Amino acid sequence: MNFVPEPVKVNKTNLLDFDRKGLAAFFVGLGEKPFRATQLLKWLYQEGITDFSLMTNLSKPLRSYLTEHCRIETPEIVVEQVASDGVHKWVLQTHCGNRVETVFIPEEGRGTLCVSSQIGCALACTFCSTAQQGFNRNLSTSEIIGQVYAAQNRLGSSAKITNVVMMGMGEPLLNFDNVVAAMNLMMDDFAYGLSKRRVTISTSGVVPAMYRLTEVCDVSLAVSLHAVTDELRNELVPINKKYPLQELLAACRENAKLAPRRTITFEYVMLDGVNDSLDDAYGLVELLKTVPSKINLIPFNPFPNSSYRCSSNNRIHQFKTLLNDAGIVTTVRKTRGEDIDAACGQLVGQVKDKSRRHLKLHLAGTEHET
Ligand code: SAH
Repeated sequence: MNFVPEPVKVNKTNLLDFDRKGLAAFFVGLGEKPFRATQLLKWLYQEGITDFSLMTNLSKPLRSYLTEHCRIETPEIVVEQVASDGVHKWVLQTHCGNRVETVFIPEEGRGTLCVSSQIGCALACTFCSTAQQGFNRNLSTSEIIGQVYAAQNRLGSSAKITNVVMMGMGEPLLNFDNVVAAMNLMMDDFAYGLSKRRVTISTSGVVPAMYRLTEVCDVSLAVSLHAVTDELRNELVPINKKYPLQELLAACRENAKLAPRRTITFEYVMLDGVNDSLDDAYGLVELLKTVPSKINLIPFNPFPNSSYRCSSNNRIHQFKTLLNDAGIVTTVRKTRGEDIDAACGQLVGQVKDKSRRHLKLHLAGTEHET
Protein backbone atom coordinates (compact mmCIF):
# COMPACT_ATOMS: atom_id res chain seq x y z
CA MET A 1 0.00 0.00 0.00
CA ASN A 2 1.26 3.44 -0.89
CA PHE A 3 2.14 5.73 1.97
CA VAL A 4 -0.56 8.37 2.35
CA PRO A 5 0.65 11.40 4.25
CA GLU A 6 -1.56 12.68 7.03
CA PRO A 7 -3.48 15.79 5.99
CA VAL A 8 -1.65 18.87 7.23
CA LYS A 9 -3.36 20.06 10.39
CA VAL A 10 -4.42 23.66 10.16
CA ASN A 11 -3.02 25.64 13.06
CA LYS A 12 -5.53 25.97 15.85
CA THR A 13 -7.15 29.41 16.02
CA ASN A 14 -5.92 31.44 18.99
CA LEU A 15 -9.07 32.98 20.45
CA LEU A 16 -7.06 35.73 22.16
CA ASP A 17 -6.63 37.19 18.67
CA PHE A 18 -10.24 38.44 18.64
CA ASP A 19 -11.95 41.33 20.34
CA ARG A 20 -15.69 40.99 21.03
CA LYS A 21 -16.69 41.95 17.49
CA GLY A 22 -14.18 39.55 16.00
CA LEU A 23 -15.30 36.73 18.28
CA ALA A 24 -18.96 37.34 17.47
CA ALA A 25 -18.14 37.05 13.76
CA PHE A 26 -16.16 33.89 14.49
CA PHE A 27 -19.12 32.28 16.28
CA VAL A 28 -21.60 33.38 13.63
CA GLY A 29 -19.30 31.71 11.09
CA LEU A 30 -19.76 28.50 13.07
CA GLY A 31 -23.54 28.86 12.96
CA GLU A 32 -23.66 29.98 16.58
CA LYS A 33 -25.31 33.04 18.09
CA PRO A 34 -23.13 36.18 18.43
CA PHE A 35 -23.68 36.27 22.24
CA ARG A 36 -21.33 33.30 22.54
CA ALA A 37 -18.63 35.96 22.27
CA THR A 38 -19.55 37.58 25.58
CA GLN A 39 -19.80 34.18 27.25
CA LEU A 40 -16.34 33.22 26.07
CA LEU A 41 -14.83 36.59 27.01
CA LYS A 42 -16.13 36.20 30.56
CA TRP A 43 -14.61 32.72 30.91
CA LEU A 44 -11.28 33.84 29.56
CA TYR A 45 -10.73 37.25 31.03
CA GLN A 46 -12.89 37.29 34.15
CA GLU A 47 -12.94 33.67 35.34
CA GLY A 48 -9.45 32.85 34.08
CA ILE A 49 -10.73 29.57 32.61
CA THR A 50 -8.95 28.41 29.47
CA ASP A 51 -10.14 24.78 29.40
CA PHE A 52 -13.09 24.76 26.98
CA SER A 53 -14.61 21.67 28.59
CA LEU A 54 -15.24 23.71 31.76
CA MET A 55 -17.23 26.39 29.94
CA THR A 56 -20.56 25.03 31.07
CA ASN A 57 -22.85 27.55 29.41
CA LEU A 58 -21.63 26.50 25.96
CA SER A 59 -23.24 23.47 24.35
CA LYS A 60 -21.27 20.22 24.50
CA PRO A 61 -20.74 20.04 20.72
CA LEU A 62 -19.44 23.63 20.74
CA ARG A 63 -17.08 22.82 23.60
CA SER A 64 -15.63 19.88 21.73
CA TYR A 65 -15.36 21.91 18.52
CA LEU A 66 -13.39 24.58 20.38
CA THR A 67 -11.18 21.98 22.06
CA GLU A 68 -10.34 20.48 18.70
CA HIS A 69 -9.88 23.62 16.64
CA CYS A 70 -9.00 26.46 18.99
CA ARG A 71 -6.38 27.39 21.55
CA ILE A 72 -5.78 30.07 24.16
CA GLU A 73 -2.15 31.04 24.03
CA THR A 74 -0.12 33.96 25.31
CA PRO A 75 3.60 34.52 24.76
CA GLU A 76 5.56 32.61 27.37
CA ILE A 77 7.23 34.38 30.29
CA VAL A 78 10.88 33.35 30.15
CA VAL A 79 12.41 35.86 32.56
CA GLU A 80 10.91 37.64 35.53
CA GLN A 81 12.74 40.39 37.40
CA VAL A 82 11.56 42.44 40.34
CA ALA A 83 13.27 45.77 40.99
CA SER A 84 14.04 47.16 44.42
CA ASP A 85 11.08 49.56 44.02
CA GLY A 86 8.61 46.73 43.30
CA VAL A 87 8.53 47.18 39.52
CA HIS A 88 8.22 43.85 37.70
CA LYS A 89 9.72 43.23 34.29
CA TRP A 90 8.82 40.16 32.29
CA VAL A 91 10.58 39.01 29.17
CA LEU A 92 8.13 37.15 26.97
CA GLN A 93 9.11 34.81 24.21
CA THR A 94 7.06 34.73 21.04
CA HIS A 95 6.63 31.58 18.94
CA CYS A 96 9.16 32.91 16.42
CA GLY A 97 11.93 33.11 18.99
CA ASN A 98 11.93 36.87 19.55
CA ARG A 99 11.50 38.40 22.96
CA VAL A 100 9.52 41.44 24.07
CA GLU A 101 9.27 43.11 27.45
CA THR A 102 6.34 44.06 29.66
CA VAL A 103 6.64 46.12 32.83
CA PHE A 104 4.32 46.38 35.85
CA ILE A 105 4.57 49.54 37.94
CA PRO A 106 2.80 49.31 41.31
CA GLU A 107 1.74 52.55 42.98
CA GLU A 108 -0.47 53.48 45.88
CA GLY A 109 -3.98 52.52 44.79
CA ARG A 110 -3.10 51.50 41.25
CA GLY A 111 -1.00 49.23 39.11
CA THR A 112 0.10 50.21 35.62
CA LEU A 113 1.15 47.73 32.97
CA CYS A 114 3.43 49.01 30.22
CA VAL A 115 2.74 46.90 27.14
CA SER A 116 4.78 46.35 23.95
CA SER A 117 3.16 46.57 20.51
CA GLN A 118 5.95 45.47 18.17
CA ILE A 119 9.07 43.33 18.22
CA GLY A 120 11.60 46.15 18.14
CA CYS A 121 10.67 49.41 16.46
CA ALA A 122 10.91 50.61 12.87
CA LEU A 123 11.39 54.21 13.96
CA ALA A 124 14.75 55.57 14.93
CA CYS A 125 14.29 58.02 17.78
CA THR A 126 17.86 58.78 18.72
CA PHE A 127 17.39 58.70 22.51
CA CYS A 128 15.52 55.36 22.70
CA SER A 129 17.26 52.04 23.14
CA THR A 130 14.43 50.02 21.56
CA ALA A 131 15.25 51.88 18.33
CA GLN A 132 18.78 50.52 18.41
CA GLN A 133 17.39 46.98 18.33
CA GLY A 134 15.89 47.30 14.86
CA PHE A 135 12.55 45.82 13.91
CA ASN A 136 11.21 42.32 13.36
CA ARG A 137 7.42 42.41 13.10
CA ASN A 138 4.14 43.59 14.57
CA LEU A 139 2.80 41.70 17.57
CA SER A 140 -0.53 39.94 17.03
CA THR A 141 -3.58 40.84 19.11
CA SER A 142 -3.05 37.71 21.21
CA GLU A 143 0.56 38.70 21.84
CA ILE A 144 -0.54 42.17 22.98
CA ILE A 145 -3.54 41.25 25.16
CA GLY A 146 -1.54 38.15 26.14
CA GLN A 147 0.90 40.45 27.97
CA VAL A 148 -1.96 41.65 30.20
CA TYR A 149 -3.22 38.08 30.58
CA ALA A 150 0.18 36.63 31.46
CA ALA A 151 1.09 39.52 33.77
CA GLN A 152 -2.18 39.39 35.73
CA ASN A 153 -1.77 35.61 36.02
CA ARG A 154 1.73 36.00 37.44
CA LEU A 155 0.66 38.73 39.84
CA GLY A 156 -2.30 36.65 41.01
CA SER A 157 -4.14 38.24 43.89
CA SER A 158 -1.04 40.15 45.05
CA ALA A 159 -1.74 43.09 42.71
CA LYS A 160 -4.28 44.21 40.15
CA ILE A 161 -3.63 45.80 36.79
CA THR A 162 -5.77 48.96 36.89
CA ASN A 163 -4.11 50.92 34.06
CA VAL A 164 -2.46 50.01 30.78
CA VAL A 165 -0.08 52.22 28.83
CA MET A 166 0.97 51.25 25.30
CA MET A 167 4.47 52.54 26.00
CA GLY A 168 6.60 49.43 25.77
CA MET A 169 8.57 48.37 22.73
CA GLY A 170 7.35 49.60 19.35
CA GLU A 171 5.19 52.29 17.78
CA PRO A 172 1.61 51.18 18.50
CA LEU A 173 0.02 53.20 15.69
CA LEU A 174 2.13 51.34 13.12
CA ASN A 175 0.37 48.16 14.29
CA PHE A 176 -3.06 49.74 14.19
CA ASP A 177 -5.60 46.91 13.90
CA ASN A 178 -3.98 44.56 16.42
CA VAL A 179 -3.39 47.32 18.95
CA VAL A 180 -6.98 48.61 18.63
CA ALA A 181 -8.40 45.09 19.05
CA ALA A 182 -6.26 44.56 22.15
CA MET A 183 -7.29 47.94 23.61
CA ASN A 184 -10.95 47.07 22.90
CA LEU A 185 -10.47 43.98 25.07
CA MET A 186 -8.83 46.04 27.82
CA MET A 187 -11.91 48.29 27.91
CA ASP A 188 -14.59 45.66 27.25
CA ASP A 189 -16.90 45.15 30.23
CA PHE A 190 -16.89 41.42 29.50
CA ALA A 191 -13.07 41.32 29.46
CA TYR A 192 -10.92 43.68 31.60
CA GLY A 193 -13.42 46.52 31.80
CA LEU A 194 -10.86 49.31 32.24
CA SER A 195 -12.21 52.80 31.68
CA LYS A 196 -10.94 54.73 28.66
CA ARG A 197 -9.11 57.03 31.01
CA ARG A 198 -7.05 54.10 32.22
CA VAL A 199 -5.91 52.92 28.81
CA THR A 200 -3.33 55.16 27.15
CA ILE A 201 -1.71 54.90 23.77
CA SER A 202 1.55 56.75 23.23
CA THR A 203 2.64 57.67 19.72
CA SER A 204 5.63 59.33 18.17
CA GLY A 205 3.16 61.08 15.84
CA VAL A 206 1.93 58.85 13.01
CA VAL A 207 -0.55 61.51 11.93
CA PRO A 208 -2.89 59.59 9.55
CA ALA A 209 -3.22 56.79 12.11
CA MET A 210 -4.00 59.37 14.82
CA TYR A 211 -7.03 60.53 12.81
CA ARG A 212 -8.13 56.91 12.31
CA LEU A 213 -7.75 56.26 16.03
CA THR A 214 -9.88 59.27 16.88
CA GLU A 215 -12.61 57.77 14.70
CA VAL A 216 -12.59 54.21 16.02
CA CYS A 217 -11.20 54.01 19.53
CA ASP A 218 -11.63 56.42 22.40
CA VAL A 219 -8.59 55.87 24.60
CA SER A 220 -6.34 58.44 26.25
CA LEU A 221 -3.71 59.85 23.94
CA ALA A 222 -0.09 60.63 24.76
CA VAL A 223 2.23 62.13 22.18
CA SER A 224 6.01 61.94 22.27
CA LEU A 225 6.84 65.56 21.50
CA HIS A 226 10.40 66.01 22.82
CA ALA A 227 11.19 69.16 20.80
CA VAL A 228 9.50 72.46 19.95
CA THR A 229 11.05 73.11 16.54
CA ASP A 230 10.84 70.95 13.44
CA GLU A 231 14.58 71.23 13.09
CA LEU A 232 15.32 69.56 16.44
CA ARG A 233 12.38 67.15 16.28
CA ASN A 234 13.52 65.94 12.84
CA GLU A 235 16.70 64.90 14.57
CA LEU A 236 15.29 63.36 17.76
CA VAL A 237 12.06 61.84 16.41
CA PRO A 238 12.78 61.38 12.67
CA ILE A 239 9.15 60.58 11.77
CA ASN A 240 8.71 64.33 12.19
CA LYS A 241 10.19 64.74 8.70
CA LYS A 242 7.11 63.00 7.36
CA TYR A 243 4.58 64.53 9.78
CA PRO A 244 5.89 67.87 11.05
CA LEU A 245 4.78 69.64 14.21
CA GLN A 246 1.86 71.66 12.84
CA GLU A 247 0.32 68.55 11.25
CA LEU A 248 0.86 66.64 14.49
CA LEU A 249 -0.84 69.33 16.56
CA ALA A 250 -3.80 69.48 14.15
CA ALA A 251 -4.31 65.73 14.68
CA CYS A 252 -4.11 66.29 18.44
CA ARG A 253 -6.76 69.03 18.28
CA GLU A 254 -9.06 66.66 16.42
CA ASN A 255 -8.58 63.99 19.08
CA ALA A 256 -9.20 66.49 21.87
CA LYS A 257 -12.64 67.18 20.38
CA LEU A 258 -13.78 63.69 21.44
CA ALA A 259 -14.95 65.03 24.77
CA PRO A 260 -15.24 68.33 26.59
CA ARG A 261 -12.29 68.95 28.91
CA ARG A 262 -10.29 66.17 27.27
CA THR A 263 -6.55 66.79 27.30
CA ILE A 264 -3.66 65.32 25.35
CA THR A 265 -0.56 64.36 27.30
CA PHE A 266 2.68 65.49 25.71
CA GLU A 267 5.74 63.51 26.69
CA TYR A 268 8.98 65.43 26.73
CA VAL A 269 12.26 63.68 27.46
CA MET A 270 14.75 65.91 29.29
CA LEU A 271 18.07 65.87 27.44
CA ASP A 272 20.84 67.94 28.90
CA GLY A 273 21.83 70.82 26.62
CA VAL A 274 19.67 69.51 23.77
CA ASN A 275 16.02 70.43 24.42
CA ASP A 276 16.03 71.70 28.01
CA SER A 277 16.72 75.45 27.79
CA LEU A 278 14.21 77.84 29.28
CA ASP A 279 13.64 79.08 25.73
CA ASP A 280 12.51 75.54 24.93
CA ALA A 281 10.06 75.75 27.82
CA TYR A 282 8.68 79.09 26.53
CA GLY A 283 8.53 77.53 23.07
CA LEU A 284 6.47 74.68 24.48
CA VAL A 285 3.97 77.08 26.03
CA GLU A 286 3.65 78.88 22.71
CA LEU A 287 3.38 75.68 20.67
CA LEU A 288 0.72 74.08 22.85
CA LYS A 289 -1.49 77.19 23.07
CA THR A 290 -3.96 75.69 20.61
CA VAL A 291 -4.23 72.21 22.17
CA PRO A 292 -5.72 71.32 25.56
CA SER A 293 -2.57 69.81 27.02
CA LYS A 294 -0.82 68.24 29.95
CA ILE A 295 2.93 67.76 29.91
CA ASN A 296 4.82 64.81 31.28
CA LEU A 297 8.54 65.48 31.57
CA ILE A 298 10.57 62.26 31.37
CA PRO A 299 14.06 62.30 32.85
CA PHE A 300 16.26 60.68 30.17
CA ASN A 301 17.15 57.10 31.04
CA PRO A 302 20.60 56.24 29.77
CA PHE A 303 21.48 52.99 27.99
CA PRO A 304 24.76 51.64 26.64
CA ASN A 305 26.26 53.76 23.84
CA SER A 306 23.73 56.57 24.19
CA SER A 307 25.27 59.95 23.60
CA TYR A 308 22.78 61.94 25.70
CA ARG A 309 22.78 62.87 29.35
CA CYS A 310 19.77 63.59 31.52
CA SER A 311 19.11 67.23 32.42
CA SER A 312 19.96 68.19 36.00
CA ASN A 313 17.27 67.92 38.66
CA ASN A 314 17.49 71.64 39.03
CA ARG A 315 16.78 72.22 35.34
CA ILE A 316 13.90 69.73 35.30
CA HIS A 317 12.41 71.55 38.27
CA GLN A 318 12.81 74.99 36.62
CA PHE A 319 11.29 73.67 33.39
CA LYS A 320 8.34 72.22 35.24
CA THR A 321 7.75 75.36 37.28
CA LEU A 322 7.84 77.56 34.20
CA LEU A 323 5.26 75.37 32.44
CA ASN A 324 3.02 75.12 35.49
CA ASP A 325 3.18 78.89 35.98
CA ALA A 326 2.11 79.31 32.36
CA GLY A 327 -1.00 77.28 33.20
CA ILE A 328 -0.07 73.89 31.73
CA VAL A 329 -0.42 71.01 34.18
CA THR A 330 3.07 69.50 34.18
CA THR A 331 4.35 66.43 35.98
CA VAL A 332 7.72 64.74 36.10
CA ARG A 333 7.62 61.02 35.42
CA LYS A 334 9.19 59.09 38.27
CA THR A 335 11.95 56.87 37.04
CA ARG A 336 11.04 53.37 38.16
CA GLY A 337 12.61 49.96 37.73
CA GLU A 338 15.96 51.42 36.74
CA ASP A 339 18.02 48.70 38.41
CA ILE A 340 16.47 46.07 36.12
CA ASP A 341 16.50 48.23 32.94
CA ALA A 342 12.73 48.55 33.01
CA ALA A 343 12.52 52.33 32.73
CA CYS A 344 11.19 54.24 29.67
CA GLY A 345 13.33 53.72 26.62
CA GLN A 346 15.29 50.89 28.21
CA LEU A 347 13.17 47.99 26.95
CA VAL A 348 15.07 45.99 24.40
CA GLY A 349 13.90 42.35 24.42
CA GLN A 350 15.64 40.22 21.87
CA VAL A 351 14.92 41.25 18.32
CA LYS A 352 15.97 39.41 15.21
CA ASP A 353 16.37 42.62 13.29
CA LYS A 354 14.92 42.55 9.79
CA SER A 355 15.26 46.25 9.16
CA ARG A 356 19.06 46.30 9.41
CA ARG A 357 18.45 49.30 11.63
CA HIS A 358 21.38 48.63 13.93
CA LEU A 359 23.61 48.41 10.89
CA LYS A 360 22.26 51.62 9.41
CA LEU A 361 22.68 53.39 12.72
CA HIS A 362 26.33 52.53 12.59
CA LEU A 363 26.47 53.99 9.12
CA ALA A 364 25.70 57.48 10.32
CA GLY A 365 22.25 58.23 8.76
CA THR A 366 19.28 57.86 11.07
CA GLU A 367 16.67 58.31 8.37
CA HIS A 368 13.57 56.26 9.28
CA GLU A 369 11.41 54.34 6.91
CA THR A 370 7.74 53.63 7.46
N1 SAH B 1 6.60 54.54 20.26
C1 SAH B 1 5.77 55.14 21.25
C2 SAH B 1 5.91 54.48 22.63
C3 SAH B 1 7.32 54.61 23.12
S1 SAH B 1 7.84 54.54 24.78
C4 SAH B 1 6.10 56.61 21.35
O1 SAH B 1 7.06 57.04 20.73
O2 SAH B 1 5.38 57.35 22.01
C5 SAH B 1 7.14 55.73 25.75
C6 SAH B 1 7.95 57.02 25.99
O3 SAH B 1 9.30 56.83 26.44
C7 SAH B 1 8.03 57.83 24.72
O4 SAH B 1 7.65 59.13 25.00
C8 SAH B 1 9.49 57.74 24.39
O5 SAH B 1 9.88 58.82 23.58
C9 SAH B 1 10.12 57.76 25.76
N2 SAH B 1 11.53 57.32 25.76
C10 SAH B 1 12.16 56.57 24.84
N3 SAH B 1 13.46 56.40 25.18
C11 SAH B 1 13.64 57.04 26.35
C12 SAH B 1 14.75 57.20 27.23
N4 SAH B 1 15.94 56.64 26.97
N5 SAH B 1 14.57 57.90 28.36
C13 SAH B 1 13.36 58.44 28.66
N6 SAH B 1 12.29 58.31 27.88
C14 SAH B 1 12.42 57.63 26.73
